[in-house]
Amino acid sequence: MLKQKSVWMHIGAGSFHRAHQAWYLHRLIQQGDDSWSIALGNIRNDANALLDNLAKQKGEYTLETVSPEGERHYEKITSVRKILHWDEQLTELVEQGSDKETRVIAFTVTEGGYYLTPQHELDVEQGDIKADLNGEMRTIYGALAHILRARLARHGEPVTLLNCDNLRHNGERFRHGFLSFLQLKGESELYEWVKNQTRSPNTMVDRITPRPTPDVAERVKQQMGWDDKAPVMGESFIQWVIEDDFINGRPALENVDVEMVDSVLPWEEAKIRILNASHSCIAWAGTLIGLNYIDDSTRELPIKQMAWNYVTQDVIPSLSPSPLDLAQYRDVVLARFGNPYIKDTNQRVAADGLSKIPGFITPTLQECYGRNQIPAATAVLPALFFVFLTRWAQGQLPYEYQDGVLDVAYYQKLMNSDNALDKFVADETLFGALANSAEFHGLMKSTVIHIENWLKSPEQLL
Ligand code: NAD
Repeated sequence: MLKQKSVWMHIGAGSFHRAHQAWYLHRLIQQGDDSWSIALGNIRNDANALLDNLAKQKGEYTLETVSPEGERHYEKITSVRKILHWDEQLTELVEQGSDKETRVIAFTVTEGGYYLTPQHELDVEQGDIKADLNGEMRTIYGALAHILRARLARHGEPVTLLNCDNLRHNGERFRHGFLSFLQLKGESELYEWVKNQTRSPNTMVDRITPRPTPDVAERVKQQMGWDDKAPVMGESFIQWVIEDDFINGRPALENVDVEMVDSVLPWEEAKIRILNASHSCIAWAGTLIGLNYIDDSTRELPIKQMAWNYVTQDVIPSLSPSPLDLAQYRDVVLARFGNPYIKDTNQRVAADGLSKIPGFITPTLQECYGRNQIPAATAVLPALFFVFLTRWAQGQLPYEYQDGVLDVAYYQKLMNSDNALDKFVADETLFGALANSAEFHGLMKSTVIHIENWLKSPEQLL
């Protein structure tokens, strides 16, 4: 029997998609299963040059991966078979997304691309959302509304909408945003159709993929003998966990080591607390001792030890039992952060601390107290951030600190006031009920003193 050809349309032609999802589909093709291929497009016009280059290369490009030991590997990726060129009406995206053979529409449009409030509601105050509610296509919501309206009009075959961005409960959060958008637009027929004929499984994606620098193309030319105009590079580590809830078929991803699960939550929680929180810890501590890069900061033993203690003493007991080997996950994560060939900046990872404290760190503090354990190792993280923010307020950071929710005037005043730490700890949006706990205030006070002392001789363990 002739195998049915299916298309995975991907919206968001960034580096990450090409180093991650496209690699998995490429591996399937290599195994002889070419029933699925990717059609790649973008909502914004910032990927036009890349898409043109890819089109000239028939969608092919080289992926360079590098391990923590410095082994480099080169592979020509062949799963992108169609390039969807950009125009203001997103004509080719609408055409391809409404085609019957498209059974999955996946996207990476960055964390900010979902325009959600801290309460996870669609942020209707944002200009892009206002424009899309008026019929434009600046966001994933406006674009999908056009694509799926056309699909409903053409044949109405179901389709899976797969969020591949780094967002907690990414499928659910996107879906809630999208359904709110359709409701506000008053599109009741499309709203009902999306509710019944689409699915949005949650996914957990992982592979550090920096922006490719010019030296990637030079190495690719040397190694592959190919003047590739669209190479990408990433770390050798890769992981993808997906809830197995596709409505109109899917590639046999389990054959290429994608973990297909009922619930992504244990993986997501491990990633947020072990990977993301430790990453921030390392970036704040590294910055405070004058380092610029994550790998250099991780290789400082006292800093690595802070992250190791936090995970070992507080996070692992909080997340156990787990289907994952959490101690192994910790060790792999710390080895990845120390990869000297991935030059990720402390500035990038230190950003958005005011959202990371409640999202990544406070749950562990609360759970430790809940089992009568003093979260001494976890308190190091908000204490580091407090010292970091103090340096920011004194104009002593070596770079601009980026934080989407930072009220500059408010925090300038607070951090320079006499009892700054008390006020910082008393903030319920950061620490929930612990903001009113005398015990937690005491723990934070002593931890900040430890950190200030450590900064005087940072070669010592904390
Ligand atoms: P990139 O900068 O290479 O590409 C970003 C893409 O998003 C571009 O195509 C851009 O046009 C599009 N975009 C940006 N804002 C948008 C918006 N508001 N609406 C629609 N499209 C928008 O970035 P990347 O490395 O490809 O990463 C993209 C996302 O992938 C990340 O934000 C993250 O959620 C996820 N991710 C990345 C990595 C990584 O290491 N790079 C790892 C895991 C997950």
